[in-house]
Amino acid sequence: MSTGPSNKRLNVSVVGAGIVGAAIAYSLAKHGVTVTVIDRGRPGGGATGHSFAWINATAKHPVSYHNFNRRSLGMWDRFARDLDVDVGLRWGGQMEWAATEEGAAELESRAQQLQAWGYPCQMIDANRMARLEPGICPRQVTAAIYCELDGMVEPAAAAEACIRAAAKHGAAVKLETEVTGLIVKSGKSGSNTVAVAVAGGETVDADVVVLAGGVDNTRLAAMAGVTVPQQDSPGVVIRTNPIAQPLFSSVSVVYAPPLEPGRPEIHLRQCLDGTAMIGEGTQESLARDDSQGHADELLARAAEYVPALKGASAIPVPVGYRPMPLDGFPVVGFSPKAANVYLALTHSGVTLAPLIAQLATMEIVDGAQVDLLSGYRPGRFD
Ligand SMILES: Cc1cc2nc3c(=O)[nH]c(=O)nc-3n(C[C@H](O)[C@H](O)[C@H](O)COP(=O)(O)OP(=O)(O)OC[C@H]3O[C@@H](n4cnc5c(N)ncnc54)[C@H](O)[C@@H]3O)c2cc1C
Repeated sequence: MSTGPSNKRLNVSVVGAGIVGAAIAYSLAKHGVTVTVIDRGRPGGGATGHSFAWINATAKHPVSYHNFNRRSLGMWDRFARDLDVDVGLRWGGQMEWAATEEGAAELESRAQQLQAWGYPCQMIDANRMARLEPGICPRQVTAAIYCELDGMVEPAAAAEACIRAAAKHGAAVKLETEVTGLIVKSGKSGSNTVAVAVAGGETVDADVVVLAGGVDNTRLAAMAGVTVPQQDSPGVVIRTNPIAQPLFSSVSVVYAPPLEPGRPEIHLRQCLDGTAMIGEGTQESLARDDSQGHADELLARAAEYVPALKGASAIPVPVGYRPMPLDGFPVVGFSPKAANVYLALTHSGVTLAPLIAQLATMEIVDGAQVDLLSGYRPGRFD
């Protein structure tokens, strides 16, 4: 959808100022596009603000999707350095251990698979665990892994910083402005434009509209006659009050086994402001209990492994909804049904935002057809 070599500046509206839309808006603005970002709330107020924000290629299958995530992971350093604040990007890796023979077999097979894909994931023993993280009391260890490339970030801060940076490059930012309709208009020259209708009756005209509305992308795409089915994917990650001392000395993300059989594993990390984030199960586990009781119980379980959490207060966070395409894989590209509508919908959007922003910019600005996205096209749901 490039405007070609004409002197007219491409005009793009981006709906959604979560980490994905904000990264795309910034990248487009930096490339000289006239950008308008529209969000019905504030930057990072959607799934981005609920995210555990583990930057990883560890829990990603098959190898093509693993490599897609790994490529984006490798872009995060440069992406964050370009922003005007510390967005909490920290490396250090992910450490995980098992307490049962079954759990050990699963970790061994995962480590073998990741190593075969060339991703550094080592089996480590209890001594190495203790050297990496002396503050953790792991109780029982049947096997442990360490994936040294993984990291974490504060995604809402990153989304805000991207929006500020986009504005510095001339982007218009319309917050607390709900998109209520999309009208694709055919021009006399055969080129289409899109009118983005917002609450209050105003419309914003654009050559291209990027839909980065997270879970609302299904509804937004339907406004242009495009089908993008999603799974319902609620998740809960609680927080604590800020804890002055570092909980971990080197790793960024810790996965600990269930305390009792039949319970889910837990994962935790410490944020830039000292608060701890604690979730249970895997990155895709469904959870709806955002009560104080559940938050207290999660914190109590985490404190069994991380004694520095004893005495902290659990702060429940309302359930968050992961943008989750029906088949679990990203939906990125122009819709074959509405040529001026570019979709950007994905799970693991925190990991994937730098890459998706870069590829979307190449397709929108340069008219490229990026092969890397061929498995993730919107047309697969038509
Ligand atoms: C509990 C949980 C844990 C997660 N853990 C991880 C993790 O560890 N690692 C990882 O990489 N990813 C993780 N994710 C996924 C990741 O957070 C998301 O993929 C990512 O935040 C999606 O960003 P987004 O910009 O696409 O969507 P969002 O952040 O949801 O942003 C969409 C924006 O669109 C706006 N919008 C929607 N409709 C309209 C409209 N009609 N008009 C105007 N604006 C509109 C919303 O207000 C919102 O700001 C997790 C998600 C959850 C919920």
